[in-house]
Amino acid sequence: MPAKPRKIPMRMCVGCREMKPKKELLRAVRSPQGEVSLDTTGKKAGRGAYVCFNADCLKRALKQKQLDRALDAKLDEAANQQLTQTMQRLLTEKTGEGTT
Ligand SMILES: [Zn+2]
Repeated sequence: MPAKPRKIPMRMCVGCREMKPKKELLRAVRSPQGEVSLDTTGKKAGRGAYVCFNADCLKRALKQKQLDRALDAKLDEAANQQLTQTMQRLLTEKTGEGTT
């Protein structure tokens, strides 16, 4: 059975503003309580925004308040740090050990 040509869902990274396939991006989600976290499962409920799977784009999105704007949330310093740390942890897990 031939596979149907399927359109890849594209989303815009709030850091670099490039359109990328959804699965290459990481979703940030704002919970109904107003907490912003990185959604590693893609299943969290709430308002979401997408950022590339790299620390630079996240940093840029936070610095330029693009994530705040996209999620209609207020991200304080602690929230910024938490998101950055989560991203770093995810990147470490993804690339494995021994890479610099
Ligand atoms: Zn990006």
